[in-house]
Amino acid sequence: MTSTPYWVAGKATTSGEELAVTHPYDGSQVGTTSWATADDVERAVAAAAAVSDSFAKAPAHVRAAALDHVSRRIAERADEIAALITAENGKPMKWARGEVARAVSTFRWGAEEARRFSGTLQRLDTDAGGEGRMAVVRRVTYGPVLAISPFNFPLNLVAHKVAPALAVGAPVVVKPAPATPLTALLLGEILAETDLPEGSWSVLPVPNDQMDPLVQDPRLPVVSFTGSGPVGWSILDRVPRKHVTLELGGNAAVVVCADTTGAELDRAASRIATFAMYQAGQSCISVQRVYADASVYDELTAKVVAASEALVTGDPRDEKTDVGPVIDERAAERIESWVSDAVGAGARLLTGGTRDGATVAPTVLADVPDEAKVSCEEVFGPVVVLAPVGSVDEAFERVNASRYGLQAGVFTRDLGIAFRAGVELEVGGVVVGDVPSFRADQMPYGGAKESGVGREGVAAAMADLTYERVTVLTGI
Ligand code: NAD
Repeated sequence: MTSTPYWVAGKATTSGEELAVTHPYDGSQVGTTSWATADDVERAVAAAAAVSDSFAKAPAHVRAAALDHVSRRIAERADEIAALITAENGKPMKWARGEVARAVSTFRWGAEEARRFSGTLQRLDTDAGGEGRMAVVRRVTYGPVLAISPFNFPLNLVAHKVAPALAVGAPVVVKPAPATPLTALLLGEILAETDLPEGSWSVLPVPNDQMDPLVQDPRLPVVSFTGSGPVGWSILDRVPRKHVTLELGGNAAVVVCADTTGAELDRAASRIATFAMYQAGQSCISVQRVYADASVYDELTAKVVAASEALVTGDPRDEKTDVGPVIDERAAERIESWVSDAVGAGARLLTGGTRDGATVAPTVLADVPDEAKVSCEEVFGPVVVLAPVGSVDEAFERVNASRYGLQAGVFTRDLGIAFRAGVELEVGGVVVGDVPSFRADQMPYGGAKESGVGREGVAAAMADLTYERVTVLTGI
């Protein structure tokens, strides 16, 4: 098996230190790459710093053309990339294809936003003293970006860091998750086909315990991190003066209101089961908590159980599979133990609760104490917790009782409740009429409370990677 190269300042590179990637479903070897050496890391950072000024001034059409190329090439290689995502992440093929399609869109949006990225003109003669003046407000980059990505979307969450950085003209050094580096390295292969300047991008596997020099390096003034809370907040603690964006975890909730009946209740149950279990629950916005009005609770619960049991669990390479393994057996053991702890504390196990290797059966729980980890922590597994509520007020209170706040879903046809949800729920995004797991790649996306700081979503990330610089023109 040949070792997949990593990318230092746009050049394919290997080292003698092997990083083997295994299939989460059966432990077979998917491929190998190697860990970047300290010299490679230094070369990548030095090259990013060296090209930073000129890249920021490069014409928008050059950056947009490169991003369009990447989008097109991902589309052309979609089947191959989806198969690679499935192999290293264990995500069923249908979801891997969905991820690839989203990355095509993320890069296409990057190209479009690169063309649109401008400033504003502000009149200053609105008050005495401002006569004859106006302000040109432009956004300028902070400089090179250290992009650290998680294992659960090995392509699209890398795309969400690379596309906005290149769109604003900020060099980017990508550090993919150790379990899923091969997809990011394949993206490097596509980036290498463009004429983006040397140093404007690198993709390097670096061991977690060797990340500190990169995180601390003053030549990388921005750290864009997606991953778990403890790692993310520890980065912010280590470099409080850097511009740090944290896209972290959550325990996303859905409210099902009393007006959700008949076919709409069927749809709610199906969406809840699908998006509690999709990617084996390994999405930061997978459905974890459900608060249903008492009038629909029993019927909804029965339907969620039936829909969860109807999901096909097994080999993610099989087109029919809905739920594959979690990332490794250790994660599956943790999920299993959290479920049995909840049951020990009085929860009712309605279905699931079993494990075969790294594959956890879709699990539905009721009567779960709020302090059980499956309720108050991020499960990151195919587990959903349902509870009845007496009112919308109570439902919103329980959604907000979490220390996380990424997205929430509200099933209702009542516009008043929909507007209230947008005002009262302490989250980065409210999805009315669906589960919280909906994300369009161009919309602002990110967390409130412990779910993070800053925003992604292509245009929002471009704003986040830059600051406003004002030029006041006098005598005009
Ligand atoms: P993780 O925190 O273990 O790892 C994330 C990245 O950080 C990896 O690349 C890892 O190698 C790196 N890392 C680990 N230790 C580090 C250190 N000391 N210094 C610097 N980098 C270090 O997370 P994960 O298990 O890969 O991903 C799952 C988590 O990501 C979940 O909590 C999930 O909710 C979250 N997530 C959030 C979003 C979002 O947009 N909010 C999206 C996807 C995943």
